[in-house]
Amino acid sequence: CGIVGYIGHREAYPIVINGLRRLEYRGYDSAGIALYDGKNIQLSKTKGKVADLEKRADSEISKKGSLGIGHTRWATHGVPNDVNSHPHYSNSGNLVIIHNGIIENYSSIKTELINRGYTFKSDTDTEVLVNLIEEVKKKQDVKLGKAVQIALNEVVGAYAIAVFDKNKPDEIVVAKLGSPLAIGVGDDEFFIASDASPFIEFTNNAIYLEDEEMAIIRRGRDIKIRQIKSDKLV
Ligand code: GLU
Repeated sequence: CGIVGYIGHREAYPIVINGLRRLEYRGYDSAGIALYDGKNIQLSKTKGKVADLEKRADSEISKKGSLGIGHTRWATHGVPNDVNSHPHYSNSGNLVIIHNGIIENYSSIKTELINRGYTFKSDTDTEVLVNLIEEVKKKQDVKLGKAVQIALNEVVGAYAIAVFDKNKPDEIVVAKLGSPLAIGVGDDEFFIASDASPFIEFTNNAIYLEDEEMAIIRRGRDIKIRQIKSDKLV
C-alpha cells in the first residue's frame, strides 16, 4: 500500500501516477486518485492495478489540477472493490482523504456519526475518519489542520493520511503514526509519499515525518510541522 501527493505548479496527474507505480512493490489490491484544479475535484478509483486506474481515469476524468493525491490500498476493513478504494469524500463532498493503516476504534465513532446523520458509502475505517474530521471542523468551527489534529486525538490506530478541503485549494494536511510518510520540498512545490522514491527525480530535500507528527503543507508558502498530541493546537 502507498500514498502519493503533489501540490505545486505542475499537473499533478503524471507525478502521482508515476509515484504510485514506484510504490507498487509495497503490495496492494486497489488504486485511486483525486485531483483538484481549484474549481472541480476529480476522483477516479478502482479495484486492481495502477494500470487499471490509468485506463479508468482516461475515460472518467480530465486529469487537470496541480493538487493531487493518490493511493494504493491494502484492504483491512471492507473487501477490495471500487467503492472501498481510496480516496474517500466526506459527506459534504468538501474533504477528500487517502489513508494507509487502520483506525481500530472506527466502529464506535461510526455509530456516533450515524446518530448525527452521517451516511457511509463504503465499509472502510477511512471513510469514518474523514467524516469525523468533517464533524469536528463543523462543530468546533476550526480550520482543516486543527480539525485533523482534534480528530486524530480521538482515534486509536495507525495511519499515514493526506487530506484536502475544497475550500482550501492551496493546502494539503498530512499526518503519521505507524505508517511511513515523507515530504519532498521543491521550488514552490511539495511532494508527499510513503517513501522518497516517487519524488527523488524532482528534489533531494526530503522530510520524514516522525510518529505523532502532522504537517500543514501550503502551496507557494511553507510547511508547518506540529505534534498531533500537543496541547498547542495547529
Ligand atoms: N484501513 C484502510 C482500508 O481498509 C486502509 C488500508 C491501507 O493501508 O491501504 O481501506
